[in-house]
Amino acid sequence: MIKRSFFGVVKPVLKYNREPGAVEDLPTPKRVVLLLEQSSNGTGNGFKVGDAVKTGQRLSESPDGGGYVISSVTGTISGVSPYVGTFGRKYKAITVDCNGSDTWDDGFNKEVDLDTAIDYLQCAPGRPDFGAFKDPEKTIRTIVITGVDQDLLLTVNQCVVKNEGTNLKKGVQALKAMTGADRVIMVVPESLVQQANTSGAEVKTVGDTYPAGLPHMIMKDVVGRIVTAGDSVEHAGAWFVTAEAVAALGSAMETGRLPVAKLVTVVGKDGTATNKRVRIGTPIGQVLQACSISLKDRDRVILGGPMRGTATYSLDLPVEPDTDGIVVQDQVYSALLTDCPCVNCGECVRICPVKIPVNMLVRFLEAGFYEDARSMYDLECCIECGLCSYVCISRIPIFHYIKLAKHEIRMMEAAEAEEDE
Ligand code: SF4
Ligand code: SF4
Repeated sequence: MIKRSFFGVVKPVLKYNREPGAVEDLPTPKRVVLLLEQSSNGTGNGFKVGDAVKTGQRLSESPDGGGYVISSVTGTISGVSPYVGTFGRKYKAITVDCNGSDTWDDGFNKEVDLDTAIDYLQCAPGRPDFGAFKDPEKTIRTIVITGVDQDLLLTVNQCVVKNEGTNLKKGVQALKAMTGADRVIMVVPESLVQQANTSGAEVKTVGDTYPAGLPHMIMKDVVGRIVTAGDSVEHAGAWFVTAEAVAALGSAMETGRLPVAKLVTVVGKDGTATNKRVRIGTPIGQVLQACSISLKDRDRVILGGPMRGTATYSLDLPVEPDTDGIVVQDQVYSALLTDCPCVNCGECVRICPVKIPVNMLVRFLEAGFYEDARSMYDLECCIECGLCSYVCISRIPIFHYIKLAKHEIRMMEAAEAEEDE
């Protein structure tokens, strides 16, 4: 439960949900939508409307690399259309009509090595980025398996640690063998230490106060390394992967079948959280329907958690491999954002876990002076916890400004690098 404090008296203390509930499997939907991110080397010849697909089949635009998706059902492709996601990311939305039962594709070789993992398991639940181990600019010696969820209310990874010990153990063995990492740490809440101890990883605990579960905080508090401003945790030598992704790897090795179902925490308007296992690609509207959650005008649907998630306008959007939560907020209780000016109350500065002068930063972000925000007001130090937005008395969408600014800077850097080539 999230409670606001009296502003200016004490900092609000937000606690993670550490009580994962039972898991319910939802039936296979009649239709799934798979989002394939567009790559420059896609030839567009990999699949077409009318093609039959099997469960676990790899669908790619080009046989020579680039992105791919794994079909989560057996059926027929009934549509391929362009889709533009957040920050203008371009996708192909592949709609597959399910024929009601699964015929499994046999293209996946269960003798998993790093190349096979890159070719088949990057779309597994949790979306593990195995490609980081092949990046010459990164030297990864430590693997951190997160058995805690990053955002409030969500309990996907804790659920996996609690219920999928055998798959986790196999996944940890596979990770050690394929990466040669010196250290494999599993981070769990105190209540799951016993279960995590059977995984074969070194077990560490993390506190239950938000944002202790975010990678940068785990690096500082658990691994004992500070990530330099603007760097990723991978540049600091650590690779983060969710417990769900590791269990998916273990399951794939055991069964020879690619995991095609995703665990999602669904939070209703009354704050009740339940865990559902659904086929990847299931439209969000169908998940809500199965949970008997109905929407009214201006209710808010958030993909991810309440602090870091993204509100969506369409219930046709599918559950993706990294959709850990669907949070529904009643319009009566949804905090509305405003364009009111900053009143310099200082709440955002006091709560920021990395001590950014957010009150100054936000002025530059509002004006679109992103370079100055970076060079003078520590934009790149932000770990994207969203606490500043949560406490802002003027309801300025600070967190959204920060994400937009970082995106714009990455785009500018990419454009400059292209010009230099
Ligand atoms: S989101 Fe806000 S509070 Fe959190 S680290 Fe960034 S600036 Fe600080
Ligand atoms: S940005 Fe919001 S929280 Fe921060 S000083 Fe201004 S009004 Fe206060």
